[in-house]
Amino acid sequence: MALPDPALVVLVGPSGSGKSTWAAVHHRDAEIVSSDALRGVVGSGPHDLEASDEAFALLETIVAARVGRGLSTVVDTLGTDAERRLRWLATARAAGLPAVAVVLDTPDATCRTRNAARDVPVPAPVLAAQLRRHAEHVARLADEGWDLVHTVTDDAPGPDPQPAPTRTPADERRTSQGLKVVLQLSRFPWGADPLAWVADVARAADAAGFSGLALMDHLIQIPQVDRAWSPIPEPWVTLGAVAGLGTGLELGTLVTPITFRPPGVTAKAAATLDALTGGRSFLGVGAGWWDREHAAFGLPFPQPRERLDALAAGIETMRALWASGTKAYAGARVSLPETTCYPRPTSDIPVIVGGTGARTLRIAATLGDAANVPSAQPALGEHIATLRRHSETVRITVLDLPTVGTDRDDAWARVERLRGRTAAAAYAARTHAGTGVQQRDRYGALADAGVDTVFVALADLESADDLERLAPVLV
Ligand code: GDP
Ligand code: MG
Repeated sequence: MALPDPALVVLVGPSGSGKSTWAAVHHRDAEIVSSDALRGVVGSGPHDLEASDEAFALLETIVAARVGRGLSTVVDTLGTDAERRLRWLATARAAGLPAVAVVLDTPDATCRTRNAARDVPVPAPVLAAQLRRHAEHVARLADEGWDLVHTVTDDAPGPDPQPAPTRTPADERRTSQGLKVVLQLSRFPWGADPLAWVADVARAADAAGFSGLALMDHLIQIPQVDRAWSPIPEPWVTLGAVAGLGTGLELGTLVTPITFRPPGVTAKAAATLDALTGGRSFLGVGAGWWDREHAAFGLPFPQPRERLDALAAGIETMRALWASGTKAYAGARVSLPETTCYPRPTSDIPVIVGGTGARTLRIAATLGDAANVPSAQPALGEHIATLRRHSETVRITVLDLPTVGTDRDDAWARVERLRGRTAAAAYAARTHAGTGVQQRDRYGALADAGVDTVFVALADLESADDLERLAPVLV
């Protein structure tokens, strides 16, 4: 049920019934006028009862001013003073604002437990008196002329969206080795019809059993992949097009540099993608590394330390904006006056932090849901050990860039074509050149080492047909 908005909202309930919490979940800080908070302004703190007169005088002034302007106002007091209630109601009437009483009907025992747990509890006899008289106050509301008396009980939560459902393992596509295998697209030899090419590859990936599709996020094609003038599309726009195909693929970036867009704007893009895909988006994010693309696009490229600070703060910002409700956020690194970000994500969007630096791994383990590191051993084992020292639960994902042939000859022919000036043996070793079946055996070892997800990219992906070479790893 939706409450009118804007409106005057008067909270009614004993101490510990959850009034301030309800207000914080449903309203912005500036909309909440709290007698406790004002005691803290004119007195020594929220519990300074000697400051009550001045606090209530201020409260009356603020309520009258806000309501007079037609602004949403939540009055957070015990709500038991009928004279004050009627005055606020009259002010709302005069301003043409709907007037709502919100009653916190919390069980007495719950109020007592919560009160006892407080730093400064209300004296037990005072709370007992509040609880005794609660029903009497509620009964009076019916005749006072409120547009709505809304009752909040434990089993009747407020009108705001519920917390996002967590993704269940049953929704995920995993191979018989227990891995998720995500196709990472790094090059786009799409010819004259970009949308047809992208759609073709995405549909083929879906049909082949990949669990998802990831796009690189670069402004200029990187030298490791192709020439600078090869197309490298903006990933969020492109993922939007893929979302329109209605596949079962999880969609996201690997990885978005935190330096490209303000993190709130990235949060918005990922939340929108999550809504459009019914909860199948993910966000790979990193500190950025390539100075050239920043310079070319007029973006600052600060020192690593500052970029890593931005990465940590950015993840915190995005999570705050994805959380339920619109309340103000005050975290370790970031404060936001409100967190109104709609559409809300349909699920908990996984944050995958890419990179191998010591601080990047710590950020991945402590702030991310997953880390993304290169698939090559022995470095992988060391990265996993480092991540596990920080967190037992962070998921391990790897980026794998194999040369895959239909048979041994084909694999070596591809090495010869792709190796550039690198020695053939070195290139073959670095890209684990071999057949699809050999890749599958290697993936089994990755799974045994604790890897949860393999992001795989083919350096010679030309069209959807190339995905057939990866069929063995998807069994
Ligand atoms: P008030 O005295 O009516 O303003 O109550 P508060 O909103 O300050 O809540 C009192 C305590 O109960 C706080 O520690 C809250 O975190 C906790 N609390 C409030 N609402 C809920 C709820 O719905 N569930 C749980 N578990 N705790 C709550
Ligand atoms: Mg309170």
